[in-house]
Amino acid sequence: MFVDVHAHLDWPDFSKDLDKVIKNAEKAGVSNIITSGVNHEANKKALEIAKKYKIVDASFGLYPLDILDLSEEELFDCFDFIKKNKCIAVGEVGLDFVSREKEKEQKENFLKIIEFVEKLKKPIIVHSRKAEKECVEILESSKLKKILVHCFSGNMKLVKRVEDNGWMFSVPTNVVYSIHFQTLVERTSINNLLTETDSPFLNFVKGERNEPRNVVHTVKKISEIKKMDEHETRKIIYSNFQKLFL
Ligand SMILES: [Zn+2]
Repeated sequence: MFVDVHAHLDWPDFSKDLDKVIKNAEKAGVSNIITSGVNHEANKKALEIAKKYKIVDASFGLYPLDILDLSEEELFDCFDFIKKNKCIAVGEVGLDFVSREKEKEQKENFLKIIEFVEKLKKPIIVHSRKAEKECVEILESSKLKKILVHCFSGNMKLVKRVEDNGWMFSVPTNVVYSIHFQTLVERTSINNLLTETDSPFLNFVKGERNEPRNVVHTVKKISEIKKMDEHETRKIIYSNFQKLFL
């Protein structure tokens, strides 16, 4: 009953051995993986992967930097695909201000996406790198309730605000060494935590490809920080998963 709510199984890193990666995850006790698209092409691949493997669901995303050059019409074509095909959530979507690129356009796109998701009535998975405050503000002014902030790097004041809003965090594998995520886990109720790998990224062994089976290490670390039994930790995280997605 381990869950990996954020992975990118469509990445070329998995093109040779995805069968084995999924088998390894199953062997480790992973019951659910959400593979996230980041643009129209990736969403199509995510859908194929979800059809092929029982434990995988697709989340269709439009990564803020990937959609900057799309016309209004192209963006609505992406929405159309999301509407017509089976997905468990919409994401990752959001803002990325690392390169400070076209922030105004990013916000406009994010607002259009939110409006679309409000009508679709699916959970949303949000990417908010270096734009955590902006993302929280925009989401607070929306009608959305089922919100997951993935790999959230905002300060602890914002972490508290997300928790008070009743949204979920997905804690990445690098919580094994990341002081930021360890603090986030310590300060946040277990009822607001989910686990992710962001595979192939964010391995706890720096530089190595990450895989969904490594979510086991995330749960172990969370249970250590929370001073909770590992089995109990896993059960609560699974029930958080059900509440948000099922
Ligand atoms: Zn991601």
